[in-house]
Amino acid sequence: MGKNTHFAMTRNVENIIVGGGLAGIWMAYHFLKASKSFVLIDSNGHSKSSSVAAGIFNPIVPSRQKISYKADEIYPYLGKKYHEMETFLHEKILHKLTISYIIDSLKELNDWAAVAENHIFKDFVIMRNERLADSIISDFGVLEIQDTGWVDIPLFLNSFKKKISEINAFVNEDFNYQLLEYDEMGFSYKDLRSTNIIFCQGTAALKNPFTPEIELNPAKGEVLLIKSDELVEGTIPQNGVFLVPLENKTFKVGSNFTWDNLDYSPTDSARNEILNKLTKWFKAPFDVLDQVAGVRPSTADRRPILGNLDFHPNAYVLNGLGSKGVALAPYYSNILYKAIYDGMEIDREVNVKRLKKRKKSDG
Ligand SMILES: Cc1cc2nc3c(=O)[nH]c(=O)nc-3n(C[C@H](O)[C@H](O)[C@H](O)COP(=O)(O)OP(=O)(O)OC[C@H]3O[C@@H](n4cnc5c(N)ncnc54)[C@H](O)[C@@H]3O)c2cc1C
Repeated sequence: MGKNTHFAMTRNVENIIVGGGLAGIWMAYHFLKASKSFVLIDSNGHSKSSSVAAGIFNPIVPSRQKISYKADEIYPYLGKKYHEMETFLHEKILHKLTISYIIDSLKELNDWAAVAENHIFKDFVIMRNERLADSIISDFGVLEIQDTGWVDIPLFLNSFKKKISEINAFVNEDFNYQLLEYDEMGFSYKDLRSTNIIFCQGTAALKNPFTPEIELNPAKGEVLLIKSDELVEGTIPQNGVFLVPLENKTFKVGSNFTWDNLDYSPTDSARNEILNKLTKWFKAPFDVLDQVAGVRPSTADRRPILGNLDFHPNAYVLNGLGSKGVALAPYYSNILYKAIYDGMEIDREVNVKRLKKRKKSDG
């Protein structure tokens, strides 16, 4: 069996997707549902974000009293889509759990009391004056956030890749830029021919010669896996860091943000930062079992990047999911799908064209 077994014969597909993190997988899902043919090419290690992410979705930024961008559209859509995905995969990937933001001070309590009933927040938050667990300090109460939870991203991505392997739509190898050719008819890559190509590469886009317009402000982050006998059930406590209850008395704790040394090595400084924040309110003994690091494909204006690339009318990108890939990927892959197949206009705020404009005006 040669290395290029998958490409033994010329094969025509409508779409080649490069990258199988949250962006690429959700893109593939929309193609699959609409019976549009595709091949997804992905291999680990070019960029690493989805594979280490804690998977939390949360429409509120409690420390800043903010609701995230387009939350009223994006979050209901997310719930629907992950349920649909679970049915498709026959796997439990969506864990709906409230987030309990631990209120820090009397001032914060008063600030929230003043706005919690406000029409913008009232569908999302409930103030509670109860302890979450014996060892969790919450003297000022908690803000319970609705429509939140976490997605088991590794299980989701692996199951999806397995599923599309069955229809020969997954190729587990490095995408080699030098082998991509194109003309007005479309693209040719090894023995694949396609009408469209969609780059969904996370931070690896910065090394792609076909995506020079992509500007990212990548942010490294780390997550710990801990084990503790403390019983925390039915909610994700959060203040500075979150504590996601998993199976067998284990929890995920994270994460932090740094903008230098953007590699995938876990660091002592991140571990200390995360543990310092956790132990301010989590007073139970625990052991650290594991620590992982990744780099988020964040953007300077905190908006995703999607749309048509400059070098070809049928070349597209979905990137810039930052720290909210779980929520943004299903929604914006659908928007990009509609742009590709229905000619729908992509809002300027999220359109890749905004980056080109900015570069020109800067220069
Ligand atoms: C520590 C940490 C915690 C996080 N926690 C959360 C969270 O709780 N909730 C949330 O919503 N988000 C979270 N995020 C952010 C989330 O991970 C991202 O928003 C999202 O996963 C980005 O997905 P992506 O598909 O754009 O990129 P990636 O996940 O980086 O996927 C890109 C894929 O493309 C592949 N690829 C790239 N180039 C090539 C090539 N040439 N050939 C083959 N394959 C290639 C890469 O190897 C990779 O598999 C977290 C991130 C980090 C780092």
